[in-house]
Amino acid sequence: MAEHFIIVGGGQSAAQAAVTLRQKKFDGRITIVGEEPHLPYQRPPLSKRYLAKKLEPERLSIRPGRFYAEADVDLKLGVRAVELDLDNKRVRLGDESELVYDGLLLATGSRVRELDVPGHDLDGIYYLRTRDDADAISAHLGPGKRLVIVGGGYIGLEVASVAVSLGAEVVVLEATQRVMSRVVCPEVSAYYDRRHRDAGVELHYGASVAAFHGHDSVDAVEIDSGESYPCDLVVAGIGISPRVELAAKGGLAVDNGIVVDDFALTEIESVFAAGDCTSHPSAHAGRHIRLESVQNAVEQARTAASVFLGQRLPYAEVPWFWSDQYDIKLQIAGLSGDHDSVVMRGDPDSGRFAACYLRGGLLSAVDAINSPRDFIGGKKLIEARSRVDASRLANPSVNLAELV
Ligand code: ADP
Repeated sequence: MAEHFIIVGGGQSAAQAAVTLRQKKFDGRITIVGEEPHLPYQRPPLSKRYLAKKLEPERLSIRPGRFYAEADVDLKLGVRAVELDLDNKRVRLGDESELVYDGLLLATGSRVRELDVPGHDLDGIYYLRTRDDADAISAHLGPGKRLVIVGGGYIGLEVASVAVSLGAEVVVLEATQRVMSRVVCPEVSAYYDRRHRDAGVELHYGASVAAFHGHDSVDAVEIDSGESYPCDLVVAGIGISPRVELAAKGGLAVDNGIVVDDFALTEIESVFAAGDCTSHPSAHAGRHIRLESVQNAVEQARTAASVFLGQRLPYAEVPWFWSDQYDIKLQIAGLSGDHDSVVMRGDPDSGRFAACYLRGGLLSAVDAINSPRDFIGGKKLIEARSRVDASRLANPSVNLAELV
């Protein structure tokens, strides 16, 4: 009988696994079980061009509907996998049906962290993770609308830039002392703070939400200091957490994500996991990490599909990320955080510069702001693990790729 590969989850990893299996000539059955009713779609545009209504819904899809028909991929959409029986290789679905697999990929992604303060269940408080979330938020954005954004991370700032461009009045409340503090150095945060203020966004730091006020719908956000910000709607972007319940209940190891190895394999043969929901070893970080990125979702899914078909190619890419705000493209290669120094390249006032993070004389990460050349060169330098001379790094006329 033909082999059956089941993919649980309907996002970027899921679509990629199906694509790779067919590209590599897997001729068995493929089933994708996805809770959302939509074809697998790209999430990054949800806080960018899609929210700004500059991208048609069909363009969000990773592959058009006909791809799944032609590739003979069975899409079970609008249904959840509710239980794993790893001993008998079975997946039970929410509609009470059961599927038997030969290979299983868990690509369950993540869910938004939510605020649990008084008033949290009022109408008008949104989180942004799904296409439906983006549709709901964009229906409420427009000239004169007062939007309070909780969280000055990727999501909060991307939504801020779209909302002001649509004429909304935007206030950002950030708990720490600077924007994007989880990922970038203070110099890069300062640049983004300035650009948002120039665009008319109001930003407040050390601002943790204490309560939401309103009758049915939210009309003000109160922070710890007692200050209150009137609003018509709230968008909170305070991070995400991995969806691991199905895996944990099924008996798989979970530690800030479903634990997998370099081959996207769990400790059970033919059971893989990919994307935001995994914790995997990273040669670059020297420990297990969990990444929230398209690149990770795609690469791990490719790895899982290849390994299932007997090609043991480990996943060892340098992580990379990006963010679009106004006309500023931020591209990040590598992982900062454990760095011991930062070298700036170029002048932030020119609108094009980079921050290079060093650890033990090696480049560990680069933030390239409107500077794709620094992103590409920096990524090569991180991959090469060659020692770098800080003075040459600081000289923007030296191509980073030449330092390899
Ligand atoms: P996301 O992908 O949702 O943008 P990030 O981790 O990039 O996630 O950013 C989340 C931001 O939200 C961080 O800057 C964090 O300091 C901030 N934050 C977390 N909790 C709160 C809170 N209760 N009030 C305000 N800001 C918060």
